[in-house]
Amino acid sequence: MKFKILWSAWAIPTPRPFNDDWLSKLAREKWWKYIRNSSCFWLEDIALLIDCPESIWKSANKENIENIKNLFITHWHPDHAFWLRVVLESRYNFRLWKTEYPINLYMPKQVYDDLKKVYPSIDFFVNERWTAKLNFIEHGEKVQIENITVEAVWYQWAKSSTYWYKFSSNWKTLLYAPCDTISLEQDLSGLDVLVHECWIFSYDIVKSEISFPDAIDRIRKYKPKKTIFTHIEHVEIERRWLNYLGKMKEKYSDVDFQFAYDGFEINL
Ligand SMILES: [Zn+2]
Repeated sequence: MKFKILWSAWAIPTPRPFNDDWLSKLAREKWWKYIRNSSCFWLEDIALLIDCPESIWKSANKENIENIKNLFITHWHPDHAFWLRVVLESRYNFRLWKTEYPINLYMPKQVYDDLKKVYPSIDFFVNERWTAKLNFIEHGEKVQIENITVEAVWYQWAKSSTYWYKFSSNWKTLLYAPCDTISLEQDLSGLDVLVHECWIFSYDIVKSEISFPDAIDRIRKYKPKKTIFTHIEHVEIERRWLNYLGKMKEKYSDVDFQFAYDGFEINL
């Protein structure tokens, strides 16, 4: 399986638009080096995209992604779903007023219901323009797409509004868990690769998200063969300087992990 972390930021991209903080200024000067956009994930083998953050068009063009067959959504948050229009309308023929090849769109019903409340036009694209064939996938359910199995995973046993997706093929497994991982009640043993949210270094201030030390403890406990932290906050790096991620690598040198960047490839 050939994966790519297309984008590796939290909701706020780097450079942060309409802001003059030092990191945004630096990234505007050296765009290629410091840019991060909101999280999304790509599996090349089956042309599968997870999530549609704002400006997905930019990443798709940069990475030469010409065709998306399968689209999975983790949750309704704007940085994960609000640019669905761009992807879905890419299939719409505005001359013939019809969709020629609808995208296979997968998400749990709870996610669809949540999304419809804040992004009602999803209904228009699915049910009026038929740009997507909607498939509900619930916790524990698996979809077989060619030789790859995709499983939906709640992050907590109570009815969750955020889901992760687990990929298996040829006895290899990868779990993509980019957001909202604080209340984990799952056993994450036996993974080859865990792509996990990095989240918060300022855990003295922010209590509503998983702290970085807790995320590290989770890695110590479940021992995935490889861990990549994504969903990295512009605000946190801006607050702590560029070498902070390197410092964290040194501080937790007993744990094998990497920080993602835009375009990070994983071959499994
Ligand atoms: Zn998020």
